[in-house]
Amino acid sequence: MGIVVQKYGGTSVGDVSKIKKVAERVKKTVEEGDKVIVVVSAMGDQTDKLVSLMYEVTDAPPRREMDMILTTGEQVSIALLSASLQEMNVPSISYTGWQAGIATEPHFGNARIINIESERIQESIDEGKVVIVAGFQGMTNEKEIATLGRGGSDTTAVAVAAALKADRCEINTDVDGIYSTDPRIVPYAKKLSTISFDEMLEMAVLGASVLHPRAVELAKVHGVNLLVRSSFSDKEGTYVKEENTLEKEIVVSGVAYDEDVSKIEVLDIRNEIGAMSKVFDSLAQANINVDMIVLSEHGAETFHLAFTVGKEEAERAMEIIEKQKENLSFRRAFFEKDVAKVSIIGAGMITNTGVAAKMFNVLNNNDIRMKMITTSEIKVSCLVPLENGKQSVKILHRAYDLDTESETQIET
Ligand code: ADP
Ligand code: ASP
Ligand code: MG
Repeated sequence: MGIVVQKYGGTSVGDVSKIKKVAERVKKTVEEGDKVIVVVSAMGDQTDKLVSLMYEVTDAPPRREMDMILTTGEQVSIALLSASLQEMNVPSISYTGWQAGIATEPHFGNARIINIESERIQESIDEGKVVIVAGFQGMTNEKEIATLGRGGSDTTAVAVAAALKADRCEINTDVDGIYSTDPRIVPYAKKLSTISFDEMLEMAVLGASVLHPRAVELAKVHGVNLLVRSSFSDKEGTYVKEENTLEKEIVVSGVAYDEDVSKIEVLDIRNEIGAMSKVFDSLAQANINVDMIVLSEHGAETFHLAFTVGKEEAERAMEIIEKQKENLSFRRAFFEKDVAKVSIIGAGMITNTGVAAKMFNVLNNNDIRMKMITTSEIKVSCLVPLENGKQSVKILHRAYDLDTESETQIET
């Protein structure tokens, strides 16, 4: 008898009838002889609704109170799922993140899990119960409630699977696996039977919401057997694995897309030692993640700096920069929200030349302006105008020969 962790995302528990269907799937897994731990997200777009509700009372929500309201979403779904299971005579118990012993860092809004004291989950499993854990939440040392960042329920599932040494961790979602790009943008995207941790991590970091980046990282470190599959069918999903089973000669294996970016530019910063660290230290202290960075010297005296942050962090980042105006003696800072990041990913890139050049040519030939570019050994990212974002994904997917013949049907 093994332990299986099953995570169900927001769409999969979008209404009461879907929750009952999830309960049936859980029941089936129990009947197959597995001990099941379920991690669930908030119903449908409940998290977005709670964010908007908070903005109805303030333009600058206190981060603690934002986490307080957001964690209620998952509490609704765990209670409904547990009661549905009991209605079907399957013994079960629901736990909030803190009841389940999930300890996090003290960062509201994007806390990382540091430890899971799993005794309570283990005891309930030993009593023969299905344990249902609220995703995306935990508790800090100071007994404050913190969330793990949007999409963080995947991470809860993988962390619980690692702590309980589960046989497998299934991410059940609204697509039937991991594709070469988002099948909602490119219907001719190719479904992958396996993907390596490194490529998946890169895809996730670059915006493929099918898995939360931290979930991939944790699965790699703890050797969790991770599978992404559909909540609505029994189709074979995609395994995320250690070895790179993707053919090496495939230079570009996927295209990722992210609209959650804003570009910040700071012009004519006085060129002196330590100026860069002043900017980025202050952002790091405020726990703001900076992504693409471009620095250019402007004469001997000053330099320009451009970087990207998440859309929700843009205003806060601007405030932090503006506060240092005197200290850094820059001329002007401004931000732009109508941008998107499109990236090509592939382990085969290291050994092939001309991959980036082809990307720039394809975008150029389609009159798509590139506002920023960053590269690593296995990816090239371009910041483009938001209005050209999805079009860029489609044409790059085709240009790198990733399109398949048949269209993906997305079940709901
Ligand atoms: P959940 O609510 O189940 O966590 P998400 O919306 O977070 O679901 O993630 C699933 C979505 O990820 C899919 O509906 C799809 O639009 C998107 N997605 C982005 N990139 C990919 C990809 N490469 N493969 C599959 N799905 C992807
Ligand atoms: N409910 C949270 C969100 O919408 C967490 C999750 O679904 O993974 O981001
Ligand atoms: Mg998700």
